[in-house]
Parts: sequence; structure tokens; C-alpha cells
Amino acid sequence: MLDQNTSSQAAPSDQDEVTLDALVIGAGVGGLYQLYQLREQGLSVAAVEAASDVGGTWFWNRYPGARFDSEGYIYQYLFDEALYKDWSWSERFPGQPEIERWMQYVTDRLDLRKNIRFGTTVTAAHFDEATARWRVTTDTGVTYSTQFLVSCTGVLSVPLGGLYPGEDTFEGDILHTSRWPEGGIDVTGKRVGVIGTGATGVQVIQTIAPQVADLTVFVRTPQYIIPMKNPKYGPSDVEAYKDRFDELRSTLFNTFTGFEYDFEVAWADLTPEQRLERLETLYEDGSLKIWLAGFAEILSQQDVSEEVSEFVRGKMRERLKDPELIETLVPTEYGFGTRRVPLDTGYLEAYRRDNVHAVNLRKTAISHIEAKGIRMQDGTLHELDVIVMAVGFDASTGALARIDVRGRDGRSLREDWGRDIRTTMGLQKHGYPNLFLTGAPLAPSAALCNLPTCLQQQTEWISDCIRHVRTTGQTSIEPLEATEDAWVAHHDEIANATLIAKTDSWWVGSNVDGKPRRVLAYAGGANTYKDKCRDVAESGYLGFRLT
Ligand code: NAP
Repeated sequence: MLDQNTSSQAAPSDQDEVTLDALVIGAGVGGLYQLYQLREQGLSVAAVEAASDVGGTWFWNRYPGARFDSEGYIYQYLFDEALYKDWSWSERFPGQPEIERWMQYVTDRLDLRKNIRFGTTVTAAHFDEATARWRVTTDTGVTYSTQFLVSCTGVLSVPLGGLYPGEDTFEGDILHTSRWPEGGIDVTGKRVGVIGTGATGVQVIQTIAPQVADLTVFVRTPQYIIPMKNPKYGPSDVEAYKDRFDELRSTLFNTFTGFEYDFEVAWADLTPEQRLERLETLYEDGSLKIWLAGFAEILSQQDVSEEVSEFVRGKMRERLKDPELIETLVPTEYGFGTRRVPLDTGYLEAYRRDNVHAVNLRKTAISHIEAKGIRMQDGTLHELDVIVMAVGFDASTGALARIDVRGRDGRSLREDWGRDIRTTMGLQKHGYPNLFLTGAPLAPSAALCNLPTCLQQQTEWISDCIRHVRTTGQTSIEPLEATEDAWVAHHDEIANATLIAKTDSWWVGSNVDGKPRRVLAYAGGANTYKDKCRDVAESGYLGFRLT
């Protein structure tokens, strides 16, 4: 049973200055659980959230077709069996409305709303060395003085904008997928252009293709596409996955990517026929299994990467049939799994409809956007009523770098990360005492982890760390510079041996002009990472300065 009675609660108030033990920024998957844990510890804690309700990613991403690529039953909190089992998913990969309802269920069940101030964006957070407290400023005028500051600002929460000149001159609707209005916009019978074919673009395109009059997709880098199998769940399916609660709880935290499955067999141990058979079986599963439980060697060995990539290309060619579509939509420049693999439901087939056209940006680039549509560099104008920007995010560092975060000696996180993206285990940063990070660079995150698995582990580590500081009579904790150097070196050694490091995508920050290049997510495995985090805690935070 959950104890919903807490002795110390910090209800949001209209005071100009609120004093707290801990402030959590963000009320998504990480923030909600972090808030709950710190409140259960007896801290006076609150969360601030820019949105008008909980959900984070699942609040903002209301675009048509938004849904999980992780099975719903592994995208849940595992700390409380009743909380887990009293929620039932309607299908294997549920859609955004159902996910948002689940997040509201969790919020209400844990009675978290009273501790969250919505519609509030943090603008600055300055560490005061004299008091060892953070002073946090928000856009509503309310300020917080807090001992601990935990960032749960999300990996993919800052949409990219202003990519083309003339966006503001367009006479129709132009919108980023993660700022889709509640209630949607009516695209029926309209001429729609979609820029971007990542996991988001794939879901939008396959969903709106039958609704719109005309759909033009601007394709720059095509994706390896795996067809999703998404059966509806009846009572017996739901019962079956709930019966696996103990198994999932022990498995998810001990796999390479926080999924229920793992890499099992070595490429070199199988004959060519056995490899093919295994790839076929994994492909038929209709999930991310072919990527995350197939052959780990695809991430490091060029020859294996090429063979597995060719297997997936073959499947795509069979579905696309048309040579021009194959040229536009089948990737050849990078290896399978070195960028996020999207699951689809008729995405490739959508291009075979008469009302859908693929524009190959590798042949002719976009020049600019103007009143009537998108103008290409060869002079062609694509006339449009709606432009959907499925162009991605300033990932992992974007949200915190937009806050004026100042640590010891007035150092600026924006400037530090502008030079070089470094953290200690993605959980803290040298020079910023009592600042804790989740979903941050150099920890496993959306790139290489089932995010709820990693966010649960990271927030639990942070809660334990804060408990340690308080119960040992200390006031602050910060990683030593040498500790951070060692973590960065360890991270880089693993990351740079992978093909991910050589492949452009948000995973290495190459989608944002001027962002220092580094593989953002820890590539040593969520399981290994968890063990390393545990070792640090068990050592009494060796390598950290406690004062
Ligand atoms: P993304 O993977 O970064 O894809 C952005 C797309 O926009 C790419 O095709 C990119 O092309 C294109 N693009 C960017 N700037 C462009 C420009 N100036 N001109 C033309 N094309 C441009 O972003 P996303 O699709 O939003 O996905 C981000 C992440 O969100 C995913 O990797 C995944 O982790 C997560 N996600 C998860 C789910 C799910 O769980 N079901 C669904 C959606 C998203 P280039 O590659 O050539 O740059």
C-alpha cells in the first residue's frame, strides 16, 4: 500500500519567495517519481512545471499517431505493485491519449498535484555559496530558495525551431509536432507538408496520409523501418503481463537497454543460416527486439552492421517496390541501429498512395518557406496549407542550457556545456553542488534505454544520495573534478568505439548547430551503469565532496 499521508508537504503558494528542502523541475515520468520519493523522505519539496498539467513528453507530444515504441507494460513505475497492477493497457503499444491518462492516474493516486506548480517556467538557478542553497527564479515571479535542486526537464523537451528563413511569412498553419494543440488541428482535405522522418515524422505521416488531400514529405536522412505488431489487449493478455510483475521488476534493471530482452547470442557463434533465421524471428516480433536483442556487434563491427543493415533494407525494398521510393527512403549512409529505429504501421506503404509524395532533399534542398509553401533550391514551390515540423529537439542538454544555471564562482552551465558536454554519471556536475540531473548527458537515456527504467534508477539514486547527505549531517555534495574527468574518459572510451559516434543524429548533438559533439547517452549498458552508480553510493560517495 502506498502511504499517501505525508508529514511535510510544500503546497504551491502565491508567496513571492518559497523556502524548500528540494525543488524538482518538471512533472514528467522522472519528475513525478522524484517528487514522490523526496516527499516520502519527509522533505519539504515541490515541483514546477511549464505545462498546464503533468506528463512531460506525453503532455506536449499530441501530434497525430503519437504512441509508445516500448511495450506499455515496461513503461510503468515498478516500485509499487498495486500502482502497477491497478492500471491496464488496452494494447501492446498504447497511444498518447492513453499514456497521458496513465500519467494522470499516477499523479492522482500518489496525490502529487498539490505539490506541483503548473504553468511555471524556471528562468534562472543560482547557487549561493554562503548559504549553500539554490535560488531559483521563475517566469511567474515566484522564487524558491532550496537546498537541493533536481532537474527532470526531459531528454527531448526543447523543439528545434527557426530552421528555415520565412517560417513566419507562411500563410497557413506551421507547427512543431511537440507543440501540437490540445484537440488537434483539422488536416482533413488539406495540402500538408511534413519536414522530418525520425520516429515522430514516421508516426505523423502514416496517420495523416489517408486524411489529407495531399501529403508532401521532405526526406533528408531516411530511417531503417521495422513494422510494429500492436495487438489489442483483452483481459487475459492484461492478466498475463501483470503476472510477470516480479519478473519484469528484476529483469528490466539488469538488461543493456532497460527493456525486458537483451542481446543473447554472438554473431560469430552462428552460421550464416542461423543468423538469418534469428533476424527473421526477431523481425517478426514487430518490436524493437531486432535492434535491442539482436546482435550487439551492429553497434561496433562494420561488417556485422552492414549485413544486418542489408537484411532490413531488403525488407524495406520488398515493401516499397518502386525504385525511386527505394532510392529516397532506404538508408545506405549509416548502419542499422546507430540512430533510433522507428517502428511503423503502414508508413512505407503510405508513400505508395496517390496523394503522398516524397521529396528527396539529398537531390534538391529546401531554400526557404514563403507565404504559399516551401520553395526548393531548384525554384520549385510546394504549395501547402499546413507545414508539420517533425524536425526534432535540442536533446539532453537543451532544457537546462536554456535556464541561467550558475554554480560555484558564478560559473555558467550554458557556457560550460557550450564548450564541452561533461557530467559525472549524468547525475551531477562538478562546480554545481546539490544540483542533480536526470536524463542528462553521459547517463543512459532515451537514445539507449527504455526511459522509465533509467529514470526510475536515476531518481532512486538521487533520493538515496540526498538522504545520505541529510542523515550524515552534511549540507552539500558535489563530484570532484577528478571524478568527473574519470567518468568522461570512461564514457568516451566506450562511446567512441561504437559506430554511433560516427553517425550524425541527435544522439551526438549534430542536429543542433554549434553543439559540441559527444555521444550523449552512456553506451556501456543500463545494467553496468546501474552497478557503477550503486558502487558509488555503497562507497559512501567516494570521489564526491561532502561538506
Ligand atoms: P529526430 O529523430 O531528430 O528526427 C528529426 C528529423 O527531422 C530527421 O529526419 C531530420 O533529418 C529532419 N530534419 C531536421 N532538421 C531538418 C531540416 N532543417 N531540413 C530537413 N529535415 C530536417 O526527431 P524526432 O523524430 O522527433 O525523434 C526524436 C526522438 O524522440 C526519437 O529518436 C525517439 O527517441 C523519441 N520519439 C519516441 C517515440 C516513441 O517512443 N514512440 C516517438 C517519437 C519520438 P536528418 O536526420 O537529416 O537531420
